[in-house]
Amino acid sequence: MTGFKRVAGVTGAMLAMVLFVSACAKKESSLPKDRGPSEVSRKSSQEAGQMAEESRQNQAKGFPPPEHQVSEAQPAVAKPEEAMTKDQMAELDRIKEKTMVFKGPKFKKQIALTFDDGPDREFTPQILKILKQKQVPATFFVVGNMVKKYPDMLREIDRDGHTIGNHSFNHPQLTKLKHPETDRQIGQTNQLIYQTIHKSPLLLRPPYGAINDQLEQHFGQKNFKIIQWSVDTRDWAGQSPEQIMATVKREADPGGIILQHCAGGKQLQSTVQVLPGLIDYFRGQGYEFVTVDKLLNIPAYEEYTNKVSQ
Ligand SMILES: [Zn+2]
Repeated sequence: MTGFKRVAGVTGAMLAMVLFVSACAKKESSLPKDRGPSEVSRKSSQEAGQMAEESRQNQAKGFPPPEHQVSEAQPAVAKPEEAMTKDQMAELDRIKEKTMVFKGPKFKKQIALTFDDGPDREFTPQILKILKQKQVPATFFVVGNMVKKYPDMLREIDRDGHTIGNHSFNHPQLTKLKHPETDRQIGQTNQLIYQTIHKSPLLLRPPYGAINDQLEQHFGQKNFKIIQWSVDTRDWAGQSPEQIMATVKREADPGGIILQHCAGGKQLQSTVQVLPGLIDYFRGQGYEFVTVDKLLNIPAYEEYTNKVSQ
């Protein structure tokens, strides 16, 4: 029976991919002009082609299908907290209705640390160690090709209780890609995360924050929440710990989402060095550190993926 199941799985996956790609292809002709930032993507189209090939190979191997792409299940709505006033609930509802979010509600002194571009073996373990010592949950927006290289690090992030979000496969500017390629960037990364920790993220951070109305709508229809940020530490650009601290002190306020990195930069030692002091400072100010999903009171993963027992 195992053989039968595998064959059925492959067939289902292939059918899902065909339906999905053909649905996206219809929209391709009306792509709007890119309104995103002008940074160029880090990787060549050659790598994107290789990724598509790997995706086909994965399908042939019978890996789980990118189920979020075909799922019609709505995300579970978390219970509103009892202590909230009407105005506070209305603020939370307004945030929940949006596909794209820059920060959380103002009424609680909560703040969310986010770390992009990992996992790696250099900075990610150092950041995890500090977060564990300080008992601070955070959100990691991971890149598919790094997940592929360091699946054990992804497992460790998950085991430590942090939230994992999708940050594309190889960090292109999504607004520069055609639709089927955009979906492969996100779909294959969710597939890799699913294979590694059996969870399929619903939180998506586009590289460089580059998005347009059509992509926002497209990802919204797939139940993704696009998570931007309210404070950019510019840690990747070689900021000193003092500069990072000054930026965060100046710009962070209740509901803040702070952008940092745990891989990919030359100078991320500053990110590691500033972290303990940054945590102590905000705790001293009465802030609670939460994951992005908790800040926004939304699910982090497709509901079904939490039920997989493995
Ligand atoms: Zn990034």
